[in-house]
Amino acid sequence: MTQISVTRLCKDYAAGEGPALRNLSLDVNSGEMVALLGPSGSGKTTALKILGGLIAPDSGQVQFDGKPVLHLAPDRRGAVMVFQNPLLFPYMTVAENIGFGLRMRGVARNTIRDRVEDMLAAVRLPGFGPRRPSELSGGQAQRVALARALILHPALLLLDEPLSSLDTHLRADMQDLICALQKETRITTIFVTHDQAEAVAMADRVALLLDGSLRQFDEPTAFFRTPVDIDVARFFGATTFLPGHVRANIFDCALGPLSLSHVWGNRPATATIRPEAIRLGPGTANTFTGTIRTCQFLGTQTAVTVDVADTPLRLSLPPDQAAGLAPGQPLTLHLPPDALWIFP
Ligand code: ADP
Ligand code: MG
Repeated sequence: MTQISVTRLCKDYAAGEGPALRNLSLDVNSGEMVALLGPSGSGKTTALKILGGLIAPDSGQVQFDGKPVLHLAPDRRGAVMVFQNPLLFPYMTVAENIGFGLRMRGVARNTIRDRVEDMLAAVRLPGFGPRRPSELSGGQAQRVALARALILHPALLLLDEPLSSLDTHLRADMQDLICALQKETRITTIFVTHDQAEAVAMADRVALLLDGSLRQFDEPTAFFRTPVDIDVARFFGATTFLPGHVRANIFDCALGPLSLSHVWGNRPATATIRPEAIRLGPGTANTFTGTIRTCQFLGTQTAVTVDVADTPLRLSLPPDQAAGLAPGQPLTLHLPPDALWIFP
């Protein structure tokens, strides 16, 4: 249960690619689970390594419960990091791996044995203590790595893409397990992922990093309803962006005047609507008829592109609603006013 304050962290590896982190500021509440989300190369691992003490920033400050920690060696901070590759010691058993940190701290043998048994049960690997890491599946090895971190009751748990090498169904199980253990232990946790679905499913709040800059730090739903800019909306799957001019609760664009659910001032702007928010059939406002350009069955959803005049609108429909739709057909749809979001 530790509150984490990150203030204006900068890091430039001076490798000619520009800074890896630009003024990263982030406050994580005690007991909170925060996802640090971003595409590859956005600075996520760099931020985590600075928090864990593996590298130093060029400038900025990090405080745990109000105390500066950047001058402290990794083992004096109480932050523990778990990597994508579990990095277990190959010549030790699973139990020895999990108990390693406690042994380094001089904890008594019997205590270690009991706590290791408890941790094996917690990560659903009872009886696995005598095995070697080579006798584990990828998911099991990752659970051992998690147990090895949690047994230390860290002030801060740092998880760097711990699930990205696991296949889909195993990932869902591990997500549930990590969430359950985090809720139970209330260990302040920052986990890195490039997968927005994973971030919103697991985190209390999501911090979106793009190109080393924190773009939005918010509850998961906010990235869908109130994204701060077009890049954020795009990262979260918005595909329709309409240039135009907003005046009060009307947005003028190539489609004509669109009704909005509230008043936005008077200025040039871009409007967006999420693909799953566009509705079939006429509505009370913003109804259009266009021509279907493409229909793509994606399993749980069908992606449909409709040209309204020269403006393509992208829809994501439940497959039963999309059944029978085909390119070339006319389609009537409406844009619900409360689903339209305006960027200045
Ligand atoms: P992420 O974890 O989001 O993929 P990283 O923090 O690993 O991103 O990297 C951010 C940027 O810093 C990238 O451009 C990467 O190439 C660069 N970088 C990371 N580590 C080093 C390093 N040790 N030396 C030079 N450049 C690095
Ligand atoms: Mg990384």
